[in-house]
Amino acid sequence: MIVATRKPFDAIKQVVSGHKKVLIVGCGTCVAVCLAGGEKEVSILASQIRMTLKLDGQSVQVDEATVERQCDREFLVDLGKKVNVSDYDMVISMACGAGVQLFSDVYDRSTVAPGLDTVFIGVAEGPGVWTERCRSCGDCVLGKTAGICPVTMCAKGLLNGPCAGTRHGKCEINPEMDCAWAKIYERLAARGGLAQIRETLPPRKNSRQAFPAVLIHEAYKRRLKKDDTIV
Ligand code: SF4
Ligand code: SF4
Repeated sequence: MIVATRKPFDAIKQVVSGHKKVLIVGCGTCVAVCLAGGEKEVSILASQIRMTLKLDGQSVQVDEATVERQCDREFLVDLGKKVNVSDYDMVISMACGAGVQLFSDVYDRSTVAPGLDTVFIGVAEGPGVWTERCRSCGDCVLGKTAGICPVTMCAKGLLNGPCAGTRHGKCEINPEMDCAWAKIYERLAARGGLAQIRETLPPRKNSRQAFPAVLIHEAYKRRLKKDDTIV
């Protein structure tokens, strides 16, 4: 999932200050799971803004809405059926960067600002703890590395390791961190698959990480007309 954190309140306050009608829009998927931008966090932020601006003598109307996914156009269009977005002079989108951008595309006459900082693609390790696991490199090698990502978990992003610096299973860059390649070795050994670590992986296909990337599912290609614009 996408892991994000809320921007510091002072930064959000600065953005909304001076506006009369503010809409805060949450996203019900990844950022709700990581307790950054779901319905509850929208409500907390809205209350904070109302109280703080009131204490500053500013009169502001702060409304709240949360859609299932801000990275999906249909949910944003649905929002427009319930809320007149153009009525607001400022929208704070509590989605990841993709959601904020799609919101700004769909409501391109509205002033939209991010309420979150998007941090990484990761996993939940336990309540309130998330760790990065993937950099969306577009050329996944997990099948060769016992399901441990060397691009993300190795400080040098080595596709063939370990480097000469590994010591007692720790990384030379940060002795607090496990060496990703030591982990890969251990897991392959436990599976009786050590022969695999002798295989040299080819250089990563960095071209697959071209920006901005576009992916069209084969089954949907036929539906697109030649002149349809994707981005
Ligand atoms: S190899 Fe690339 S796609 Fe696979 S987990 Fe690592 S960063 Fe993600
Ligand atoms: S010690 Fe291990 S994790 Fe650290 S840079 Fe070397 S191979 Fe990568």
